[in-house]
Amino acid sequence: MNEQNPARGEGSRDPYPGRPGHERVTETCGKCSGTGRLVGFEAIDNGRCWSCGGTGTHSVLISSIRARLRRQARREAETAQAQSEAQLRLTTELEQASAALIEAHPPFADALDEQGLPLTALASAALADVRGGVPVAEVIQDYRWRTGEILINPRPNRYPTRCHECRAPVLAGEGQTAEHIHHGWLTHCSKHAPITPTSNER
Ligand SMILES: [Zn+2]
Ligand SMILES: [Zn+2]
Repeated sequence: MNEQNPARGEGSRDPYPGRPGHERVTETCGKCSGTGRLVGFEAIDNGRCWSCGGTGTHSVLISSIRARLRRQARREAETAQAQSEAQLRLTTELEQASAALIEAHPPFADALDEQGLPLTALASAALADVRGGVPVAEVIQDYRWRTGEILINPRPNRYPTRCHECRAPVLAGEGQTAEHIHHGWLTHCSKHAPITPTSNER
């Protein structure tokens, strides 16, 4: 393998190859973009650019240009490094959060794509909650409630009605009424009552 000059070290290519650092070159003034005038400052010294004295250019040592490019390259390398570290941290956190959620509730895996990224806003919120430190059991409970998978606030039905599942008559107090996120209060017969009294309302 042929090792090229790494992005670090020498940094960007030398714009003046072979020329000694003590030589000077002319650069366009960055303050006035080479015009020698600053638009909007006409009231002061006729708008003359004080950075270049109105010439529009700077005489700069090649060595100082090289130093500037090295600083730039170092800053860019540091930024890239920090970004890739943050990316790695995020990926690891996401993987850990996904694994914990799937362990607590295997069907959660269906809400993730092959890369483990959330397919739904609810899955995305659940991952964010876990990463934010909310206990996994709590997050899954909330997730299943929001996806309409489970009902909350179970209590004995106060009025006679029919079971939401099997349509069998349910006498008052013989079944269970619980809240569905989209359908409101639903009553189920004792056989289909979806909630055990301990799973909620501590
Ligand atoms: Zn200038
Ligand atoms: Zn039923």
